[in-house]
Amino acid sequence: MEKIVIERKPEILRGYWTDTNNKLIWKTYFGQTVKFHIVTRNIANGSILKLQVYENGGVKDTRIGSEKSVTVNENKAILDFYIRRDWESLIQSGADTFDATIELYVAAKYNDGNSVKLANTKATWLNVTLAIYIYLTFDDGIGLGTEDVLNILQETGVNATFFLTGSNSTTDKRQELLKRIYENHAIGNHSYYHASYPKGARADYGKYYKGGGVMVRGKLVSVIEDFKENEKEFTLWIKEFDPTYSKLFMMAKNQTKALARLPGTNTWRTPQRSSTKITHRKTIELAGINFPGEIPQADSKEEADEINQYGYSIFGWDEEWKMSSSESESSVRRRLFSMPPVSTEFTPAQIVYWQTRPIVLLMHDRQFLGERGGQLKTFINTLKKNEGIFFDTLDNYVM
Ligand SMILES: [Zn+2]
Repeated sequence: MEKIVIERKPEILRGYWTDTNNKLIWKTYFGQTVKFHIVTRNIANGSILKLQVYENGGVKDTRIGSEKSVTVNENKAILDFYIRRDWESLIQSGADTFDATIELYVAAKYNDGNSVKLANTKATWLNVTLAIYIYLTFDDGIGLGTEDVLNILQETGVNATFFLTGSNSTTDKRQELLKRIYENHAIGNHSYYHASYPKGARADYGKYYKGGGVMVRGKLVSVIEDFKENEKEFTLWIKEFDPTYSKLFMMAKNQTKALARLPGTNTWRTPQRSSTKITHRKTIELAGINFPGEIPQADSKEEADEINQYGYSIFGWDEEWKMSSSESESSVRRRLFSMPPVSTEFTPAQIVYWQTRPIVLLMHDRQFLGERGGQLKTFINTLKKNEGIFFDTLDNYVM
């Protein structure tokens, strides 16, 4: 008797988008990771599907990223897909900011079969919209307020970047707090002496940047030496709780880029941004009248270039939560989004309209010591209520 073999035709049936928790979605934001699920029929376990994500362009569709391979298991396959922030440039110029989106679908292929378009109708596209990324940065720790800030970040589930200064890090809790920063946040180098010696002496930025550095026990420590000293100290401290630590620069556990911030100056050296700010202006007196800030004392150009060439990206800031004026939380928020002061609450679409660029916010650990931490908590919680606002660490900065 002849055995009858029934040929079962392999098929790719359908696909759908979810978030990382497998919840169905049709909308997301640049900078987010999503999943694309594929359902097949008669395709053996372990088989490979080739996938290509496309942007629906109306007339002509554009490939997004490279072709990916996924493995079929029980007639299902999943693609993890990170939507890069620099794909924002695909938004057609002239698009209304309120609905500046791109639409994604997937083409899937098995063996030499035809490519099957999945989730490619208007109702099933993934709409990707502009998001606002806020980078909270805390300078001059580890010291007063660091623990309060860490507790608030933990409670609100937000990650931040800490620009640390060795000479300030004398608290008994240094190791415990450094470990928390190392495991959950990003670390930046903010120099060991911060243009000031002995500790507590007034920082002289003019001398620091154009006078060759900071005088320590009769010896001039240059700016780059000051940053290397900080790196050396923090590396030793990190190795106390993580003996396997082998990074070349001072960095947190999962950090891949070295970050630095120059003391006392809003200077940038990143692949996206480069600028140097005059660091210190001196008052001049003319005919008995003081003209504040007339003479540029020093800029940090050479020092910034040197530290950048050594391997650090240098970050300044877009806005500062000022320490001196005990600024209120709501005024910082209004200033960040350049909002007209007619109302304090805005819809997500309005916020996107007012501000679509990433925001680096400068703060200091010590301003949130004790009760004052409540302001930081309110700030984070209020922004988190808005769709499309995300907090991230500076090693993920994309402009
Ligand atoms: Zn500082």
